[in-house]
Amino acid sequence: MKTHKKLRYERLIFVIVSILLLGFGISKIIAKPDPYKELKEVSEENKKAGEMINQFDEENEQQIRLFHYPQFESKEMNAKINEYVKALPKENGIALLDYESDELNQRYLSVVFHYQLMDAEKNVIKEEKQCISYDTEAKRDIKVTDVFRRDYYDMLREQFKKQANTTVKSLADITVTPHENTVKLYYKNAAIQLKYSDYQKYIKLAGKGENKKPLAIKRKLKIDPKKPMIALTFDDGPSVYTDEVMKVFEAHNATASFFMLGQNIQYYPDTVKHMVENGFEICNHSWDHKSIASDDQKFIRKEVFDTQDALYKLTGYEASYVRPPYGAWNETTEQVLEQNGLHVALWNVDSEDWRNRDKQITLSRAKEGTFDGAIILFHDLYPTTLEAVKELVPYLQNKGYQLVTISELFQYKGEKTGL
Ligand SMILES: [Zn+2]
Repeated sequence: MKTHKKLRYERLIFVIVSILLLGFGISKIIAKPDPYKELKEVSEENKKAGEMINQFDEENEQQIRLFHYPQFESKEMNAKINEYVKALPKENGIALLDYESDELNQRYLSVVFHYQLMDAEKNVIKEEKQCISYDTEAKRDIKVTDVFRRDYYDMLREQFKKQANTTVKSLADITVTPHENTVKLYYKNAAIQLKYSDYQKYIKLAGKGENKKPLAIKRKLKIDPKKPMIALTFDDGPSVYTDEVMKVFEAHNATASFFMLGQNIQYYPDTVKHMVENGFEICNHSWDHKSIASDDQKFIRKEVFDTQDALYKLTGYEASYVRPPYGAWNETTEQVLEQNGLHVALWNVDSEDWRNRDKQITLSRAKEGTFDGAIILFHDLYPTTLEAVKELVPYLQNKGYQLVTISELFQYKGEKTGL
C-alpha cells in the first residue's frame, strides 16, 4: 500500500510540474511575441537579383538594427554594398534597411536601398534612399550618360518636377538603375521612372524586349591595372583592311579602338558588329571628316550624332569618345560633346602611317613613341599599316605592355594622357 501511495504521489508531482512548465511556456509566448516580426519579414517583390542577407542586431534595446541587403557574384558590387551598410550610423531607434535589386543583360547590377529609422512606436523619424548601380563588364558605376543617348537634360528635369515635384539642381547628383522595360532615376530622396516605350528616343540602355537587345559581347580581356598599358587606335575606317587588323589583335589576345567615319559604317556593317561582339571599342570620328572646330552647333551635332545613330542602329551601342578630324576642336565642340556625355580623345604618338605608307617607318615610329599610357594613332586604310601592326602587337606584348581600349586606358591612366 505504501508503495502504491508513493507512486500516486509521484504521478501527481509529475502532472503539476508538467502543467507549470506548459503554462510557463505559453505565458512566455503570449507575453513576449517578437516585436519586430513584421519588420523582419520584408517583401520578396522587386528583389530580382542577388541573395538576401538578413542581419538583426537586437542586443542593445536603444538601437535595434534590422538589415536586409543583397550579395551578388560580383565581388566589386558586394564591396560597394558592404561599404554602404557598414557606414550606416548607429542611431537610437529601430533602424530598418530594405532594398530593391535587379540585373540587366547579365551585366548591369542595381540595388536601391531604403533606410528607415523609427521610434519605439514604429513611427518613421528618418528616411533615406541610396542607389548603387554597377557595370560588371566595364567594372565601374553606371552613369546617367551610360543609359541616355542625348538631349535628355531638360526631359529629366521636367520629369523630376512632374513625377516627384522635385527641382533638380545638379544633374551630376542623379543616379540611375536600368531595367528590362524601364529606367529608374534617383535624386536625393526623390525617385522617378521612365518607360522605355515612352522615352525610346532618349534611352540607350534598357532591356528593350528580346529582339532589340544590344549585341552580346563575346570576348572580354582581363586587365592587370598594375602592368603598363597602351591603346592602339585606328582612324578613318572601317575599310577593307579592318577585319584583318582585328584578326591580328584577336590572335594575340589584345584589343584596340576604332574611330570610325559615319559614312563608312554603312558599307561594313558586319565589320562593325564583329568589333562590338569581340571587345573592340567603337569610337566616333565624325560623319565625313569635316572639321568640327566650328561655331555652328547644328553642324557639329549632325557630324557627330549621325555617326552615333549609325553605330546605335547596327549594334545597340554608341561611342563614348570622339576624335575630331585633324585633332581640331573648340569651345563650341566641347560644349556639344560634354552636354551629351561624349568626350574628346586625341593621341600622343603619331605613326604618320598615312604619310609614309611604309611598314618599317610606321613600325619604328610606333616603337619609338612607346610608353606606359601611350595612345598611338594609325589609320586602318593601308596595307602597310596592317603589316606594321602584325609585327607591332607581339613586339609590344613581349615588352610587357597590355593592349587595351581607349576607355580602359583612360580609366586606369587618367583622361589627361590623350590630351
Ligand atoms: Zn582622320
